[in-house]
Amino acid sequence: METVWTVPYHVPSIGKEEIDEVTDTLRSGWLTTGPKVRQFEEEFRTFVGAPNALALNSCTAALHLALVAMNLEPGDEVITTPLTFCATINAIVHAGGVPVLADVDADGNLDPAGVADALSPRTRVVLPVHFAGLPCDMQAIWAIARRHGLRVIEDAAHAMPASFRGVRIGGQSPWGESDAVAFSFYATKCLTTGEGGMLTTPNASVHSRCKSLSLHGISADAWMRYADTRRWFYEVRECGFKCNMSDIQAAIGIHQLHRQIDFCEQRAAIAARYTDAFSRFDDVIVPRSPVDRSHAWHLYVLRLRRENLPEARDAFLNTLHREGVGASVHFIPIPLHPFYSGRFPLAAWPCARAFYESALSLPIYPGMTERQLDVVISTVERAITSVRRPLFAVAGR
Ligand SMILES: *Cc1c(COP(=O)(O)O)cnc(C)c1O
Repeated sequence: METVWTVPYHVPSIGKEEIDEVTDTLRSGWLTTGPKVRQFEEEFRTFVGAPNALALNSCTAALHLALVAMNLEPGDEVITTPLTFCATINAIVHAGGVPVLADVDADGNLDPAGVADALSPRTRVVLPVHFAGLPCDMQAIWAIARRHGLRVIEDAAHAMPASFRGVRIGGQSPWGESDAVAFSFYATKCLTTGEGGMLTTPNASVHSRCKSLSLHGISADAWMRYADTRRWFYEVRECGFKCNMSDIQAAIGIHQLHRQIDFCEQRAAIAARYTDAFSRFDDVIVPRSPVDRSHAWHLYVLRLRRENLPEARDAFLNTLHREGVGASVHFIPIPLHPFYSGRFPLAAWPCARAFYESALSLPIYPGMTERQLDVVISTVERAITSVRRPLFAVAGR
């Protein structure tokens, strides 16, 4: 039987402005990368405070191109987290790098101490993921990178809009600098274009290299040089890819961007209600929001404090699903996937495993109604006590 969701896990917030802009694009006759993409890039760049932005068809593509632009040699290592979506690791492998997994901290973010332990003479790049939308300790990561001459690429798929020490992720910061930052506009992300992504970088040459790589390695200069006399001319400078954004996607993104602050405030209000309700239970751990960072609240990850994990977590999720409340798990650690298992023999990631086994993600999106919020809270409260009961029964026997 198909589940009828009282509260779906996620519903994208698409308004009339997005629909009208897409219609306008379809009527304009220009469907692929054009004026709407350039407008979206310019507005996004200004919003986060980045010198350069490049719109792409996914965050995976943004990570991939950024890594290719770092010119990895065979055997070069990229230190990242096991608690991420497979895209982060796949991009490293496709760019010719060797992923090295360092463990996470209590927030599910890459632990700078773990990064320091994972360093080797082959380390070239550190790739932190801002898990759930909470920025990593970038100050510590930048300090390690500076000390060892490493590049930093941020997976900011969850971090729109988040900030570290008052500076938006992707923006130019007085505290340090990453070489590139990758955002996702996938259907479930905070800003969506259906599918899409953005790469920001302080480095103009990384920007132009990635722009060329996103369109088969065609050189934009050649196009410009002959624009008057030979409009048909182009040159392929290297074997690139095909991952540019279309104007149809950008049409959605422009209006999603205008509503980001409002969306984020609504998610933060939901997170506050959840934390208010659940922090009185010893059985669960609510997510932190340290004062030096602002959380994007892409995910609200509740963790169970139990002996019999992950079974208790699975039972908890089943209870929610039975009651029509959508919930999910972020993430199945990378080494648990068949393709990657055994490929990281030296990786020690007990924190990521413990995090995964205890974690569940609750619905958090602007369109949630007051009633739906009440349903989630009361269902979670009931699930907390019902998962707890069998243990008490055993103890009392
Ligand atoms: C969603 C996600 C991605 C991939 O984003 P796409 O835009 O779908 O390519 C990468 N990393 C993380 C952590 C994600 O959650």
